[in-house]
Amino acid sequence: MVSLLTNTEEYFADLCDEIRLFFDVRKIPVVQEIDKQGFCVVHEFTKQTEFCHHAALYLDGVCVKEYAYHSPLVSDANELAYKRAAKHGAKIAVYRCLSAYFGIQKAWGSLTGVRPTKMLRDLCMSYGAEQAEQMFLKDYDVSEGKLQLAKQICDIQIPILQTVEPQKDLDMYLGIPFCTSRCAYCSFYAATTTKDGNKEQAYVDALLRELALLQPVIEAHRVRSIYIGGGTPTALNAEQLYRVLKAVSAYAAGAEFTVEAGRPDTITQEKLAAIQEAGAQRISINPQTTCARTLPIIGRKHSVESFFEAAELAKKFNFEAINMDLIAGLPGEGEKELMQSVRDCVRLQPENITVHSLAIKKGSKFGMENVGQFAGAEEAERMVERARMYLAEQGYQPYYMYRQKYMAGNMENIGYARPGKVCIYNVDIMEEAVSILALGAGSASKRVLPAQGKIERFIGLKDIPSYLARVEEMAAKKAVLFAQG
Ligand code: SF4
Repeated sequence: MVSLLTNTEEYFADLCDEIRLFFDVRKIPVVQEIDKQGFCVVHEFTKQTEFCHHAALYLDGVCVKEYAYHSPLVSDANELAYKRAAKHGAKIAVYRCLSAYFGIQKAWGSLTGVRPTKMLRDLCMSYGAEQAEQMFLKDYDVSEGKLQLAKQICDIQIPILQTVEPQKDLDMYLGIPFCTSRCAYCSFYAATTTKDGNKEQAYVDALLRELALLQPVIEAHRVRSIYIGGGTPTALNAEQLYRVLKAVSAYAAGAEFTVEAGRPDTITQEKLAAIQEAGAQRISINPQTTCARTLPIIGRKHSVESFFEAAELAKKFNFEAINMDLIAGLPGEGEKELMQSVRDCVRLQPENITVHSLAIKKGSKFGMENVGQFAGAEEAERMVERARMYLAEQGYQPYYMYRQKYMAGNMENIGYARPGKVCIYNVDIMEEAVSILALGAGSASKRVLPAQGKIERFIGLKDIPSYLARVEEMAAKKAVLFAQG
């Protein structure tokens, strides 16, 4: 048990993320006085010219390590900059205190946020490239290797992001929250498909109603990309899938159009033909692993062979790009198994490969049950690095990246693409460069307002019955979100 005593409670969640880099704990209680069992304290003192954040680790009531981080005081006239500096100071103090005590440096240092590349780009804009890189290395203790990775991705993203006109551009997301079975690592809301397909039919009707209601919002923008995600969109039958794709294709002229097919066992000739006829150019077929013994452990009902068959079938349709998702660090898997999966995918010559690091999320089966042996932090780091090097040799470049809580080895998810084959939607969503109008149950819309320096969000009702009952209200709230600015 680790508890936290702090007078910077507004950064409580961020400080907990730092503590979790070193302690395998989910819940960290806030306490009002020093706890005997060992905990971390951080105080914030503001002097005339500097911040001082002081972190101390107590074990058995004794202070075993402390660290004070001093940084130039940012005027509180700029509230955002002040808060950012205060938060980073507090996080760095906790990180360095724990790093010194355990004698461990983390590859991403004290950075625990989802979007390291966005952070690097923001720092470059504020301070210039040289100083931004020094801040990554010297202030946030990011390793040289991770800095180079972030830089490489930023360089690939520059031409894509340069084409954005924030007031005009819009990405569209349509969520299909149905799957044929539940993956053990998944915490998304997704219902299991029904035999008669009636539930799916009602959902498609509601989704198309929402699309029709939001027509004025869509037409007021230039649609840059359309992404049909889930769930598993191909869990719908071919007719239902085609209805969705056909309706949204009215906005697809000049836009990138992606359908996440996902589960190999849901992919059929008929559905691929429907995807192609609707004008989508990109699909995703996700094996997660090609290690046969792992598939039942992670709750996937398909075989390795069905993945190969689905991939071969999809190749006949000549889509512009096929993506394949893999997960590093699945139970019982090490470097050998991951590399086997990576090689199997490369042999199929997809344009994109995405390597996720397993994240044990609270709402997932893995998060709730003790199901197997997971790779340790060092092994997770080694295998992800090996995959990266191999993919580079095979001509794949990392083009987008994000991080999640509770990831194996505190690593990252990386999307790789052959040159010229990046997925614009993935770059836009991770870099928060473009507003996203998201339709469907549990979908997250985002309005990017660069002039105000902020992003407004609206997350729709997650459960399908509520969404069906209140679809008009959902559409109206999104219309209000997009009326801003
Ligand atoms: S297919 Fe995707 S959304 Fe469905 S249960 Fe598996 S991980 Fe979750």
